[in-house]
Amino acid sequence: MFVDSHCHINFEGLADRLPQVLENMRSHSVTHALCVSVDLETLPLVLEIARSYDNVYASVGVHPDHEDAQEPSVTELVELAAHPKVVAIGETGLDYYRLEGRTIADMEWQRERFRTHIRAAHATNKPLIVHTRSSWEDTLRLMEEERAGVPGGVMHCFTEPWHVAEMALAQNFYISLSGIVTFKSATDVQDVARRVPLERLLIETDSPYLAPVPYRGKPNEPAYVSYVGRFIAQQREMAEADLASATTQNFFRLFRIPEPVST
Ligand SMILES: [Zn+2]
Repeated sequence: MFVDSHCHINFEGLADRLPQVLENMRSHSVTHALCVSVDLETLPLVLEIARSYDNVYASVGVHPDHEDAQEPSVTELVELAAHPKVVAIGETGLDYYRLEGRTIADMEWQRERFRTHIRAAHATNKPLIVHTRSSWEDTLRLMEEERAGVPGGVMHCFTEPWHVAEMALAQNFYISLSGIVTFKSATDVQDVARRVPLERLLIETDSPYLAPVPYRGKPNEPAYVSYVGRFIAQQREMAEADLASATTQNFFRLFRIPEPVST
């Protein structure tokens, strides 16, 4: 059995056919999914989905790319995270990919927002879901300054080279790999897939984006995390069932969810 540690099934294209999405998970042996919040405006639907399906969990956070979103305070995040199905704070982090004429110095609002999320993770003792793009030095520096390793968390949709993974692992973080690992050109990610200690590895879809091979370019959904898992098992030359059970146990441990007795 597999778990999708990061998806957005509240987005258009998935939210409108949820019963089918959940049925496809079952037929691909994907038992659970974490529906990740990107802003407070769309959080109600994320929470509604998590409330409706036993095997779907939720997070609370505002994505660094959502510049004009309502800015959350620590108190607000803490209050929203009290919902019984909320297991994490995020997604949060830094993204310097589209500076659009600005400098990194101009992105202080992103760094402030990231610090707010890390403080909320401390206050709730819930792990962080961290997005980092074109910004790994600052991301790791802020994590260190704010002692993000205490609540811990995951570097989601990880695409940096191994030496960056090592630094995140040293800060008590997990590494989550998406369908990108199945892309032919993603040799850095495949290298990371072979080297991350098994007990720190998670798998995800980030659906509706980034469908793995053989669905590359098509809409993605949580069922396809099975293709991510299968590919990584091949890369590590291990049995698919062992990769599945390890990443599933890691999911329940990191997000502090009592593991279901039989599935
Ligand atoms: Zn995401």
